[in-house]
Amino acid sequence: MKVYKFGGASVNSVERIQNLARILQEEKKEKIMVIISAMGKTTNALEKVADAFFAGKRQESLNLFEAIKQQHLQVARHLLVTHYLACENRLRDFFTEVEWLLHDKPVRDYDYYYDQVVCSGELFSTSIISAYLNECGIDNQWLDVRDIFRTDNDFRDAAIDWEVTREHIIRLVLPAFEKKDILLTQGFIGATAENESTTLGREGSDYSAAVFAHLLNAESQTIWKDVVSVMNADPKQFPDAVPLPELNYNEVIEMAYYGAQVIHPKTIKPLQNKGIPLYVKCFLDPSLPGTVIHNRPLPPLPPVIVLKENQVMLEMSSRDFSFVGEQHVGQLYHLFEQLHIKPNLTQNGAISFLCVMDDRKEKTEKLALAAAAFLDVQVVKGLSLLTIRHYKEDIIQKLTQGKIILLRQQTRDTVQFLIGE
Ligand code: ASP
Ligand code: MG
Repeated sequence: MKVYKFGGASVNSVERIQNLARILQEEKKEKIMVIISAMGKTTNALEKVADAFFAGKRQESLNLFEAIKQQHLQVARHLLVTHYLACENRLRDFFTEVEWLLHDKPVRDYDYYYDQVVCSGELFSTSIISAYLNECGIDNQWLDVRDIFRTDNDFRDAAIDWEVTREHIIRLVLPAFEKKDILLTQGFIGATAENESTTLGREGSDYSAAVFAHLLNAESQTIWKDVVSVMNADPKQFPDAVPLPELNYNEVIEMAYYGAQVIHPKTIKPLQNKGIPLYVKCFLDPSLPGTVIHNRPLPPLPPVIVLKENQVMLEMSSRDFSFVGEQHVGQLYHLFEQLHIKPNLTQNGAISFLCVMDDRKEKTEKLALAAAAFLDVQVVKGLSLLTIRHYKEDIIQKLTQGKIILLRQQTRDTVQFLIGE
């Protein structure tokens, strides 16, 4: 049994959904669990619906939602003939659920409403694609993953309850595989014990697929993307980036930690724990080899480069020349935890502590304010953080020449530079 994950870009048009069908058509008599994201930029569009609703702009939220509905109905009309009506009925049920909510007044947290609205993107896309595949003769069963993935109620960043989810897999998914070779469901979403929808964090569908792979003991997971393979740098930032045909979990988790946008960082653990290989393949040309990620040692890698822009540095120093020691650092880490901040780089000196993080206005302000209660705080914005793994002197030279380096941190594998404007 294999797990396939198709992201938003792979299902963002009629042609791409037809392309997905051709990929599945090639699989003869394989058992495949197919996980699908929302179409294209639907999740972003649904975020705007949730924002407008929460800001009390009911009519605006309904108008924005109407546009999303029409787009999906249009795709369904293009793709479906015999299965159109059944699909439209299912879509209309999901539309109504959201519209009911949009007619209410917000009385709970923003994150709760966000999840109730945003989860619908995956429900729409999978409903249409499942119907289309059946119409093409690719017999499949659509599943509502909210009946399978039990989560806690940490809305927008829900954690999987592995025990309950495992039971659901045994009760619902394994029997379904006895009847059909292909099961199709949503990435990114789940539900609480109270049947409230939850989401697992943006770009979380890779992780959903890994949860299935782990619990189903899959032979492999494949992520179908619009890139030829994982590269050693983002080609948009570094045009001479090269493909990486082979990686291991260790390298990928490090790359993700430093901010490479390859695979959602949470994806690796469930696969690594069971030694399940992960393939990254190009949906535009499935004959390309892509990247395989496994558990074994690797041949030497080229330098792997990650450039994170829009970074902010908080320099926090003691007021009375006392050491910034365990107590202050402990307090700071407590704040990171409370504010859900993941610093990208930290450095402790005698009377100061430096922290570099993504500059999200609200979080930066909250942290600066809270730390100012016990330390002097200086905020420097507009920075970028360059990370090079498997570095050599020449690449360091090339990438840092003429730049204002505010800080350098180095280990045997990795060097990081904080770069000023
Ligand atoms: N649709 C969700 C998002 O755009 C989840 C995903 O695509 O992985 O974040
Ligand atoms: Mg996506």
